[in-house]
Amino acid sequence: MNNTPTSEEKSPPFIVIFTDLDGTLLDHDTYEWEAAKPALELCKHYGIPLIPVSSKTRAEIEVFQQKLGIMTPFISENGGGVYFPKSCYPEGPAGAVSEENLWKWSLGPSYGVLVKVLKEISDELGWVIRGFSEMTPEEISSYTGLDLETSHLAALREYDEPFIIVEPEEKDVIVFEKAAERRGFHITEGGRFYHIHGKKDKGEAVKRVILWYKRSQPRLISMALGDSPTDFSMLEQVDYPVLIRSTGHFPGLKDRIPGLKITDEMGPDGWNSAVLDISGQIISGGIP
Ligand SMILES: [Mg+2]
Repeated sequence: MNNTPTSEEKSPPFIVIFTDLDGTLLDHDTYEWEAAKPALELCKHYGIPLIPVSSKTRAEIEVFQQKLGIMTPFISENGGGVYFPKSCYPEGPAGAVSEENLWKWSLGPSYGVLVKVLKEISDELGWVIRGFSEMTPEEISSYTGLDLETSHLAALREYDEPFIIVEPEEKDVIVFEKAAERRGFHITEGGRFYHIHGKKDKGEAVKRVILWYKRSQPRLISMALGDSPTDFSMLEQVDYPVLIRSTGHFPGLKDRIPGLKITDEMGPDGWNSAVLDISGQIISGGIP
């Protein structure tokens, strides 16, 4: 019997990390990521792509990537848009359209449709809803703690409308979710806002990016980190799912997502420990 490993088996695994930003890589309140620096350095050293998967807009994520000094594909607005930098991928993936310095897959319905549907649902239920489309940068800043410039970038939305429910105070959000489902849309709960978006979610976008990577990297090992229900579909798609501890409690999540690791620490501290631990073990050959 020939036990000689094939060239594919001999090549080291290719790790890809998908990460939520707010409350995960970034501190929920301060947006700092200082505590994650050791793990970020490890990613840079080993050429591990770090793919932001966020409710943030393209404009916000691009600025964040510049600050972090990374250039990788990224997923905006809860899976609505998938972007690939042209400087890294001159050809562009199949089905992507050119948009300035990026290639883009549009997975979500347009922003105008989302705003219209949100209004329809709130009228139907008699609820008072306030979405980003109605908020000034000052108001967005007051809810998020972002500076005005970043709040302006946060308002440049394409595929997802964040909103707050002003009234009623006592509410059953499932009623709202069902009204959205009937119209073919989804409501998810993020760290600060509810979001309305199309049927595509973070999980669908991550799945597509994994398939795209696997064509050139068959020994791909995927990891994802997130802290809130908007991240669960993404955690379901990867080999190593990590829930970053938060104030939220999610009973039964370990049954829904086999192999889920839950960090002891919150935000970037938890992120740092989980990435160092899992990547370190993969790199040293400890897993898989
Ligand atoms: Mg989050």
